[in-house]
Amino acid sequence: MSLRPYRHITRRTSRKIMVGPVAVGGDAPISVQTMTNTLTTDIEGTLDQIRRSAEAGADIVRVSCPDEDSTQALRAIVKGSPVPIVADIHFHYKRAIEAADAGAACLRINPGNIGSAERVREVVKAARDHGCSMRIGVNAGSLDKHLLEKYGEPCPDALVESAMEHARILEDNDFLDFKISVKASDVFMAVAAYRGLAAACDYPLHLGITEAGGLTGGTVKSALGIGTLLWEGIGDTLRVSLSADVVEEVKVGFELLRTLDLRHRGVRIVSCPSCARQGFNVINTVEALEKRLSHVRAPVTVSVLGCVVNGPGEARETMIGITGGGAGNHKVYIGGDPNHNISTQAMIDHIVALVEAKATEIEAAGQGEV
Ligand code: SF4
Repeated sequence: MSLRPYRHITRRTSRKIMVGPVAVGGDAPISVQTMTNTLTTDIEGTLDQIRRSAEAGADIVRVSCPDEDSTQALRAIVKGSPVPIVADIHFHYKRAIEAADAGAACLRINPGNIGSAERVREVVKAARDHGCSMRIGVNAGSLDKHLLEKYGEPCPDALVESAMEHARILEDNDFLDFKISVKASDVFMAVAAYRGLAAACDYPLHLGITEAGGLTGGTVKSALGIGTLLWEGIGDTLRVSLSADVVEEVKVGFELLRTLDLRHRGVRIVSCPSCARQGFNVINTVEALEKRLSHVRAPVTVSVLGCVVNGPGEARETMIGITGGGAGNHKVYIGGDPNHNISTQAMIDHIVALVEAKATEIEAAGQGEV
């Protein structure tokens, strides 16, 4: 019996598939994805984005393959990438076959859009031959015509029906290594569609709120949509779509998983908004710590509170804490207990050193990122 049952999330039981070496579904950790926005033919630029995303924690990165030049470039990209690559294919079955041959770990393609049964067979064969999985990606903005006619407008049932139609085509080809997404920019629609799909099948689900918006608006929208689903135990992998740098998408994805205690990676800072009582500048301190600790992968919790009002209480819940005191003399907490004092000038370097030492200790104990 858990001490804190109100924190417990029971994940939906899903099949497990592989995206290269990364398991998606089943008991695998929920993976975080992003997508490059460079020209795929710009191999170095694309690899640079992939590397930055991977550094921020991305488990999988998707790359668009709109033409043959892109699938040709994909080979070098796959080779240089530290994480598995999903090739985003729209309609052209030949691009899918080329991408599988170029080493893509997964093809994002809707089998219903490929064309003839023969072409579908060819794509499935290429995927099978190259150990590629697939993602069926249904989007409210590009629903099949016959479903729009049937339902009158995009709606959750139409998204689920579309997903199941595409899934059936792969099932008919005895190909079951796929995950599904049913994205919409409308949070209500997306959440209802994912709930419906979660009940209708046991395929792993890729979560996302599409065209979510800029950094602030998109983060809030994704936190509501993706967060609600994760909280209900739905979702095996996710991408936060933001009109912002790819690294921001990864950061928001991890923050969501961390907040729901579904994954632990890197430093989680608990901090107050600050007020007239602060003994040091909390906002600047948090900003500096976030920057200087972004390389840490081990799950370390830190509390940064401006004064003693809430400082000791929050410090009790974190591994390392600092609480503002009077006259530039601040209290450092280790393991929840007051330990020693530090001056404003020395504070940031000191906390960075303490966190880095804690991270080393956690990794040495084999309790690194999950
Ligand atoms: S912890 Fe102290 S400084 Fe921070 S907001 Fe609360 S009262 Fe203000």
